[in-house]
Amino acid sequence: MQQDRENYRKCSSCGWIHYGISQEDAEQEIRDFNKMYATLSDSEKIQLYGGKAAKLDDYKSCANCAASYQEMTLLEPHDFKRIKGKTMQPILLA
Ligand SMILES: [Zn+2]
Repeated sequence: MQQDRENYRKCSSCGWIHYGISQEDAEQEIRDFNKMYATLSDSEKIQLYGGKAAKLDDYKSCANCAASYQEMTLLEPHDFKRIKGKTMQPILLA
């Protein structure tokens, strides 16, 4: 995993680490996901994704505590030990 601190953000409220994404890239991910989502049956939409299509707001808050993406900070060098092998949610870069 690339250890470039510009690519990650840490929640200043709970400490969860996310990977940062530009609004342009987030919008592309949303379009791609929702195109796939539209092909699912109603029961699949609910079973797999809680009946929710992707939206930009999903990229604007901490996946753990819902703090705003504007409250994210850069990682400190010691934080990189915590991200190895972890799944991270994307967050908009402020
Ligand atoms: Zn948080």
